[in-house]
Parts: sequence; C-alpha cells; structure tokens
Amino acid sequence: MTSRYHLAGLPIGGGSLSLPPAESHHAATVMRVRCGDRLTLFDGQGHEAEATIVSVSKREVRLTAEPAVYRPRENRRAVTLAVAMPKGDRARELVERLTELGIDRLVPLHCERSPWAVSAAALAKWQRVAVEACKQCGRNRLMEIEEPQSVAEQLGRPLADGEIGWFAHPGGGEMNADSLGERSATAIRVAIGPEGGFTEGEVAAARAAGWTPVGLGERIYRIETAAVIVAIHAAGF
Ligand code: SAH
Repeated sequence: MTSRYHLAGLPIGGGSLSLPPAESHHAATVMRVRCGDRLTLFDGQGHEAEATIVSVSKREVRLTAEPAVYRPRENRRAVTLAVAMPKGDRARELVERLTELGIDRLVPLHCERSPWAVSAAALAKWQRVAVEACKQCGRNRLMEIEEPQSVAEQLGRPLADGEIGWFAHPGGGEMNADSLGERSATAIRVAIGPEGGFTEGEVAAARAAGWTPVGLGERIYRIETAAVIVAIHAAGF
C-alpha cells in the first residue's frame, strides 16, 4: 500500500495543509486513512516531508507536515528520451518503467513512419501514470512529459555543451557514454523510432545535427524494450 502522496507546492518549512480534492478522496475512501496516520508527501521537484493526518472527511484530508527535505533520488546524468510512443497499455507500461528508471524528460516523437498522432488526452493520462509511478518507486522528482515533437523539431534543439545525442538504430555503434570524449557526458538525449524504424532521411538529418546512431545488438526490439535498454545505459547507473 502506498503511503506517498503528491502535493505540488509542499511548504518547505512544514505546517498545516490539506491534500488536493482527488487525493483526499482517494486517501479517505480507498486507503481509509485515519487521524494519527503517518504518510509521506512529495512535491515533484525533489522534496519530501513526513506528515501526520489530523482530520479526515471524504472531501478533505488535513495534515501537519514536518519540514521538507531535498531527496530527489535521481541518476547521475540527465536523460531525455524522445520516443515514437506505442499505444494503450504498452505506452502506460513504458511511462511506468521510464519513471522508475529516473528518466528526466520524455518527449513523444512524431516520425515519418509513426502510425498515430499523440492526443492531448493520451498526454494527460501518461502524466497521471508518471505521478503514480513516482509514488510507488519513491522518486520525488516527476518525469516531465512534454508536448509531442517531430524529428525535425527535436533535432532543431541544438545539443548543449557536454550533451550527447543518440538515436537508436539497428546497426549503429556501441552505446557507451563514458567512452565518448575525454569528459564524460552530463546530459544525454536519445531518440527511439517507430516499429517501422527511422527513414533514411531522418537518419541523415540526425547525423547532420551531430547525433550518433547507437545499436542494441543483433535482435530487433519493440519500442518499449529498446527504450528501457537505452534508458539504463544512458543514465549510467
Ligand atoms: N524495423 C525497424 C526496427 C524498428 S524497432 C528497423 O529495422 O529499423 C523500433 C525502434 O526501436 C527502432 O526505430 C530503434 O529506435 C529501436 N531499436 C529496436 N531494436 C534495435 C536495435 N537492435 N538496435 C538499435 N535500435 C533498435
């Protein structure tokens, strides 16, 4: 049972507060919290605070929070994954896995061979899935899920100093962040293509923008498997 609740704007110094209406309802009717119960609040920016419940109704759960501590539980490297998102349960599981793996930012990537356009409703759903995954895994910083971007838009954002750009493409080079250059990368952006793969034009554009093709071995993976493999390597555990 999770006893972690997301509260944007958690008061850093602690104090008296209420859970938002949906969270209050969930805590009161599903989790059946009671006065005196202890739970953990996190703000999605890296802070968490212990809190004690002081009153419970179906509409409002009130608490007294202790001062917050900064404990983001992030990886040593900032990773952005731009992914040609699958649909339905496959997308949900992908968002859960990437949140658990501490990916900083997920950008739904629209490719020439993408079979569908990501809707605002799908985006909102994935954002809720990411919050739930943060509750479950103890992560205190939310994974940002950005508006969908085309390959051209993603490549059009120049790589920052110390940032590596990879695109997963069968036959690409070895994926080893620490072997690239003398200075180890502080941030990585990785693109994962659709089931039909990146087109030759997209591959040429990515190379021209300074991105490196990386290969994941001889087998061809589904998008979500490829994304998890890349996430683990890029984060540099
Ligand atoms: N038929 C496509 C593969 C699509 S798999 C092709 O041959 O290109 C979906 C995406 O997962 C790919 O676009 C790529 O980004 C990634 N991927 C899957 N298996 C991979 C592998 N062995 N090496 C590199 N990337 C891979």
